Amino acid sequence: MSSQPPPREPTSAEPAECFRRARAASSRLRGTRVRERSRHIDALAGVIRNRREAIIDRVIKETGKSRTDALVSEILSVLDHLVYLRRFAPKILADRKVHTPLTLMGKQSWVYFEPLGIVLVISPWNYPFYQAIVPITSAFVAGNAVVYKPSEYTPLQGLVEELLHAAGFEPDWVQVVYGDGATGAALIDERPDKIFFTGSVRTGKKIMAQAAPALIPVELELGGKDPMIVFEDANLKRAAAGALWGAMTNTGQSCTSVEYLYVQESIYEEFKRRLVAEANKLRQSLDAGDDIDLGGMTTDFQCEIVREQLRDAAGRGARVLAGGGGSEGTRIIPPTVIEAVSPEMRLLTEETFGPVLPIISFEDEADVIRRVNESEYGLSASVWTADIERAKRVARAIVTGNVSINNVMLTEGNPALPFGGTKQSGFGRYKGEFGLYSFSNIKSVIVDKNSAKIEANWYPYTKRKYELFSRLTDTLFSRGIAAFTKFAITGLKLESYAQKGRE
Ligand code: NAD
Repeated sequence: MSSQPPPREPTSAEPAECFRRARAASSRLRGTRVRERSRHIDALAGVIRNRREAIIDRVIKETGKSRTDALVSEILSVLDHLVYLRRFAPKILADRKVHTPLTLMGKQSWVYFEPLGIVLVISPWNYPFYQAIVPITSAFVAGNAVVYKPSEYTPLQGLVEELLHAAGFEPDWVQVVYGDGATGAALIDERPDKIFFTGSVRTGKKIMAQAAPALIPVELELGGKDPMIVFEDANLKRAAAGALWGAMTNTGQSCTSVEYLYVQESIYEEFKRRLVAEANKLRQSLDAGDDIDLGGMTTDFQCEIVREQLRDAAGRGARVLAGGGGSEGTRIIPPTVIEAVSPEMRLLTEETFGPVLPIISFEDEADVIRRVNESEYGLSASVWTADIERAKRVARAIVTGNVSINNVMLTEGNPALPFGGTKQSGFGRYKGEFGLYSFSNIKSVIVDKNSAKIEANWYPYTKRKYELFSRLTDTLFSRGIAAFTKFAITGLKLESYAQKGRE
């Protein structure tokens, strides 16, 4: 786990040197085609697939997560993403012809998706492999050079470089710089063309403030406090299993972990009974065997945050139904279910980021929507009910970036869906089509092949021209064949009048 000594911090000259190389690499990358870059993505997928057990060993060593968590959320989902990029990035980033209105007759309108230049990716410690490869490859396939700074707690030192090298990436296409927050800040000083940040709200605000004077665009993927809403007609067995997985996977250290479990009051007691019985069956260990459901926590400080929230909640009358804070001084926090929670508890207002599931009853649809929307966060949510129309209604009514219906944490399982938050959970979207646009300079181009004509809206302005334009406006925005005919006649008159110039 993250008890290993932190990697060497860069010298003060290194960020500048790294950006000098990245600038040169970015110019070279501009000359490559998307298809060429996606071949490297394909090669990387092959390397990762072949070396997956070694990668999993490294991830477990630094994070303490269970082996299945590492395989499913760090390898399988990364491979899914890479396959998506290889298949779809060339189509998504291809030049696109768009509609040209009648007023611009004879022209062609295009959108080009071009690289931004250098993208600085700063990542957290909870999914160190996924949070490296997914943003790096998204930025790269869009033609950007990438500077990547992993978390100082889970640096996976040398691993990303080794895999990229094996996949035929040139060394300066993607550079990895190790260090803590001060290193991240020094890299921002080098003025990347975009910052893609995943991490806490606190750091996100600092990064945005540092980026503001140089107007560096930032994308912030921040914390969450995700609700799961269970209506009385849901399949309770499946919903209870989903709630436990959603709250406990990666030992609760996921930005989209279930942190509020809202259960309709008519089924509250029965649901609670099932949940607690299942929670007590979960197996947890620091020994990364295949039969382990939950591993340990990754850092001592996160254990302390979770235990402090549990102490605060217990002191204010909350009841622990399963689990609890575990022994002080260990990285084990057992899967915990807790009830009788109230809004003044830190457990309900701050991100917990641990294996703790507060269960809360609600009255009806309107009640739960109101309570969910009171949250300062808006990353993702899930709605469980047999009534799909109700589920869709609730999905639309809650202010959040992602919603899974009768499933949990599933939107991020589909690489074609954009991912990102609202409110304190940040802004911007990555992954899928919209995600590739986030790493692109979206350039509008209009082509006018007729170079001889004087445009009607150019000078000179005259009373006659004004009248013709006025008639054109009337006829263009009216419906029917008569209006269209008048529009065409007026257009021709205006055209011929414009060619005369000032008499
Ligand atoms: P953090 O904010 O402490 O650190 C994240 C990264 O920022 C680290 O690499 C750190 O070294 C760097 N950093 C710190 N200060 C900096 C500064 N001033 N300038 C530049 N870089 C700086 O977050 P963490 O504890 O590593 O991660 C946990 C948080 O990440 C949780 O809040 C979690 O919800 C969030 N998260 C969000 C998503 C998402 O997609 N929305 C995904 C995973 C994690």
